Amino acid sequence: MGERWIIFMAKFVFITGGVVSSIGKGIVAASLGRLLKSRNYSVSILKLDPYINVDPGTMSPFQHGEVFVTQDGAETDLDLGHYERFTDTSMSRLNSVTAGAIYQAVINKERRGDYQGGTVQVIPHITNECKERIHRVAQNTHSDVVITEVGGTVGDIESLPFLEAIRQFRKDVGRKNVVYLHVTLMPFISAAGEMKTKPTQHSVKELRSIGIQPDILVCRCDRPLPMGIKEKISEFCDVEVESVITAQDADSIYEVPLILEKEGLAQQTLELLQLEQRQPDLSSWQTLVDRLYHTQRGGLATMEPTPVEIAIVGKYIQLSDAYLSVVEAVRHAAIDVGTEVNLRWVNSEDLQTDDVQSALKEVHGIIVPGGFGVRGIDGKIAAIRYAREHQIPFLGLCLGMQCSIIEWARYCAGLANADSAEFDPNTPNPVINLLPEQQDVVDLGGTMRLGLYPCRLKPDTLASKLYDQEVVYERHRHRYEFNNAYRSLFLETGYMISGTSPDGRLVEIIEFPEHPFFIATQFHPEFQSRPNTPHPLFKGLIQAACHLLKKDKTTTLGSESKPPAVVNNSADKS
Ligand code: GLN
Repeated sequence: MGERWIIFMAKFVFITGGVVSSIGKGIVAASLGRLLKSRNYSVSILKLDPYINVDPGTMSPFQHGEVFVTQDGAETDLDLGHYERFTDTSMSRLNSVTAGAIYQAVINKERRGDYQGGTVQVIPHITNECKERIHRVAQNTHSDVVITEVGGTVGDIESLPFLEAIRQFRKDVGRKNVVYLHVTLMPFISAAGEMKTKPTQHSVKELRSIGIQPDILVCRCDRPLPMGIKEKISEFCDVEVESVITAQDADSIYEVPLILEKEGLAQQTLELLQLEQRQPDLSSWQTLVDRLYHTQRGGLATMEPTPVEIAIVGKYIQLSDAYLSVVEAVRHAAIDVGTEVNLRWVNSEDLQTDDVQSALKEVHGIIVPGGFGVRGIDGKIAAIRYAREHQIPFLGLCLGMQCSIIEWARYCAGLANADSAEFDPNTPNPVINLLPEQQDVVDLGGTMRLGLYPCRLKPDTLASKLYDQEVVYERHRHRYEFNNAYRSLFLETGYMISGTSPDGRLVEIIEFPEHPFFIATQFHPEFQSRPNTPHPLFKGLIQAACHLLKKDKTTTLGSESKPPAVVNNSADKS
């Protein structure tokens, strides 16, 4: 009984998308979350993804973009990253639900005999499981409002069970506790010089055919919606004119909450949910956006020289979403430091040793992000060598750290054939090896070392200076690790291990003391960067990049020569 009472305390917003994919439902969900949170309402955001994969962890980044890892180690859709960054709240595995996970749960129950001889069907069994997942978020987070984003586009076959579940939801919890928000496209046809409402009308018709009448329409467009158009949509789609919201394209996703606030999105949502209207406090968000646009438009150029050029060397660069959290973490740091950043995307598969120089010429910082498999590894190692030898600020993330270890082994520790067991299982020098607990793992899905783990920092290192803490908690997603059999060789040749698991067993952070900024982590710091609290490692990288840019400018003016490559021989005697 008590549980049901808690369920009915929460209000629910369901977000669907129409006309085309990539319309920005995730950003609308995250923005609404921010607007409600700025009014002191607690919010949790849930993503329902219609694919059959149990989670996106086994999908190629080319297909799906980044896999976002939650604190509790769930491999989730990249929209969860937006939810966390916009609401400044950590999500959990409850916030990411796929059709695959729903079907798996239902089939497991069926095998256990839970359905007592019944025929198991999409309605009610799949839809009930789906509704149960939404209630679970409400119960576990005790949020005032639970926002559910339904992946895919209305009209897709796959999302039908989800749409049926959310349709039933309103009847279950009461009309005043649910809002249906539909994000739709309003194209401007230049030949006709007009904005067209027909796609929206069709999309709403499609939604109604499933039994869902939207309460709010968020119209994605490249220019403001004239009042006449709003009235027309209101008339045809049976939505109050105040609930027809313009979501005009913005230069930065971080401006979207401010745009939607001006359009009255939160006010309309609260009214429909019969929740108290409260004054929002968006001052820190406004400051963030002001700083972002000022730096981008040269306004804060007095603070730091601008723009700095940061290379991201990876193999999934054709789809920048594959590195979404890395890109956002760079942006957060740049806003904080007050500089504009140009990202240079470098395909590690094209990067041969001889053209590294031209590919990375005049960059002020290099990031080698995470990844899997041997393709493009030589290019990453070449980029790391270039960063080390040319004193370019460097940040390695997960695979980026593993590659920097291979680079050191090959070029500085005399192990020319060193490799990771992931790339060459027969290498005589597996400086990166499978984690012992991974030896017997057979399944690929959800079996890596995942989620938040502590890392103890060595005092007086770059890492401890940047974090200014003794123990930090960071998110992981890997199977391989530094091979401790090589630890003493590495330390003797000048490698610095500046962070380990508290028992000292797992190497978590490495650095070179004599390099201006060279640091690499086995974890993924990018997942914890937030717009108003940039991650210290990214901030350190951008500051070091600014420093290099300043130095380059002085050098050009004073025509000094570049510093020579340094071979680091100082030993870490810890
Ligand atoms: N492929 C490496 C491992 O599994 C690195 C993974 C990553 O970069 N996320 O350990």
